Amino acid sequence: MGNDQQSALFPTYARYPITMIKGEGSRLWDDTGKAYIDLMSGIAVTNLGHAPQAVKERLVAQLDELWHVSNLFHIPNQEKLAQLLTEHSCTDAVFFCSTGAEANEAAIKLARRYASKVQGSGRYEIITFEKSFHGRTLATLTATGQDKVKEGFHPLPDGFVYAPYNDFAAVQQLVSDKTCAIMLEMVQGEGGVTPADPAFIQQLAQLCREQDLLLIVDEIQTGVGRTGKLFAYEHYGIEPDIITLAKGLGSGFPIGAMLGKAKLTEAFSAGSHGSTFGGTPIATAAAIATIETILNEGLVKRAEEIGLYAIDTLKQRLADNPIVKEVRGKGLLIGIECTQPAGELISALQEAGVLVIPAGPNVIRLAPSLTIPQADLDAGLDAVCQVLAQKAAAAVQ
Ligand SMILES: *Cc1c(COP(=O)(O)O)cnc(C)c1O
Repeated sequence: MGNDQQSALFPTYARYPITMIKGEGSRLWDDTGKAYIDLMSGIAVTNLGHAPQAVKERLVAQLDELWHVSNLFHIPNQEKLAQLLTEHSCTDAVFFCSTGAEANEAAIKLARRYASKVQGSGRYEIITFEKSFHGRTLATLTATGQDKVKEGFHPLPDGFVYAPYNDFAAVQQLVSDKTCAIMLEMVQGEGGVTPADPAFIQQLAQLCREQDLLLIVDEIQTGVGRTGKLFAYEHYGIEPDIITLAKGLGSGFPIGAMLGKAKLTEAFSAGSHGSTFGGTPIATAAAIATIETILNEGLVKRAEEIGLYAIDTLKQRLADNPIVKEVRGKGLLIGIECTQPAGELISALQEAGVLVIPAGPNVIRLAPSLTIPQADLDAGLDAVCQVLAQKAAAAVQ
């Protein structure tokens, strides 16, 4: 849609002047016929590439059988997906919803209800982190440690306090007799692709054990193979009490999930939480096919291997680039911190036919699909390095 036309949409997004009309694997095409190499996957959503065959077949088969029934009935696909997710994680039970924010809402509600109904402790406060991102509902934007998402939305719900990321002493300072949980990302995605320090995470896990606090790990961006483990917490040798998933879980079909330890199941009873669209036959079909494909095709290992290769390649080729401060990340969640605004670099890359995403003002985020062909990855990385070299040359003139 051209800028001269009046849009009937709320202006909640700063959209690029591009209209995509087709996607296949790690390629996208716009309405002028221009092709792009996709190094963003939606925002870490299309982890199997666009229109993956295995997911499509499962969806089509499910569309022929049953689209929707209420959660007042048993839904076999939910049982099957919950089995898959609990077998391959440290958790025992799953609640399904449709989005990431909704998964985090469920986690926040479960933490509070566990404290009130099971522990009887009356605790309700959750410690979260500066530069985190947990969603856009009132509770999850309050959990988010960034002021920009809160502007104009006060009064916000009570019960959230914020520590600097990777600062254990600051967390200790915030723990009180009101604290019920600590919630964080293993790699801060929106906040600039910042991985957590292993020692920090181990100290947090120990603190949670000692003080009987719940450890909630938001894996909405890092989960489902993205970081070279099925779940990013596995890099740290810890076991969260609650894990939240969404983005990559359904290959683009909306589905979210909250996974929890067995001890938490008694905190929720019939009627304490729910969602009309949570875990419909279609959504769970997409997620089952996604998880099975990732597991059966060894894509977690591939994410680890090509992730290491991509980070290595970028580190080498950008080492002497004066506008690049740091290359960091885990698996296929990669950040390039620059001295220039990410927006201009991203536009230049789009012109060159490569799609990446910002993460904060100065970081370019790469999140290619786990299935990206080596040739597309190489061409994409080459374009990133060339555009950054051109921008650096222009900066010294
Ligand atoms: C995207 C994201 C969310 C919010 O997910 P929505 O599906 O947009 O509600 C929450 N946490 C993290 C870490 C995310 O990356």
